[in-house]
Order: sequence, then structure tokens, then C-alpha cells
Amino acid sequence: MTTWKDLCMLRRLLPILGRCLRLQCPRCGQGRLFARAFTLFEHCPVCALSFEPEQGYYVGAIYLNYAATVVIATPGFLILDYWTDWSLTHQVLIWSAFAIGFPILCFRHSKSLWLSLDYFFTQSPRDGNRPNVTES
Ligand SMILES: [Zn+2]
Repeated sequence: MTTWKDLCMLRRLLPILGRCLRLQCPRCGQGRLFARAFTLFEHCPVCALSFEPEQGYYVGAIYLNYAATVVIATPGFLILDYWTDWSLTHQVLIWSAFAIGFPILCFRHSKSLWLSLDYFFTQSPRDGNRPNVTES
């Protein structure tokens, strides 16, 4: 049974996941996460949310990336093995290339997903993770 609290959480989660897909800050949705292809900003350029709260923060993103690779490659191998008569050598070459290329392609989104999930589960929209930005 879906409760009102579940609907409120889903209502908060969906925009955060949308920002994750667009590689934008999970809090404000306006700041970009990456300065260059694989270089994160330290903070959101708009709301100053820390994108690197601690050293090793993105180890979880590596696990997400690895899990996605395995979840796709393992059934993919079995399906190709069942439906095609490709040799084991061809299969190994194909899935090795996939296992190398897929994590590189998903590197940015796995970091974005990790940051977004962390933001969703640990911070309220009205939290105080905003550093002082009073410059004059
Ligand atoms: Zn932001």
C-alpha cells in the first residue's frame, strides 16, 4: 500500500534523478557537475553544494558502475550464447570490449547517480550544507 509519505519521497526523488541524468547538481538543478569530460567541479557553481565531500567519496560510484556492467554483460553473454552460434573467442572479445568501454561511457553518470542518491538519502532540501557565500 502506497502511503502519503511514499508519494512525497517519490515526488522529491524524481527531480533529483532527472538532474542526475542531465549531470546537474542534485540540489539546485542548475549547476553542472563536470568542468571537463572527467573532471568534477569541487562545488556547485550555483548553490555551492560540495561535489567531493570527502576523499574516496566516489568509491560507491565505482561499485555502481561495476554492478551495471556485470548485470548487462552476464545475461548478454548467455543470451548471445543461446541465440547465436558465435565462437567463445568472439564472445570473449565482444564482452571484454563491453566491459572496458561501458564503464568509461558511464563514468560520469555513475558519479552523478552516487551524488544524487547520497543527496536524496542524507540531506533535506533545507539543509545547511551551503557554505557562506557572503562576499562583498
Ligand atoms: Zn547546485
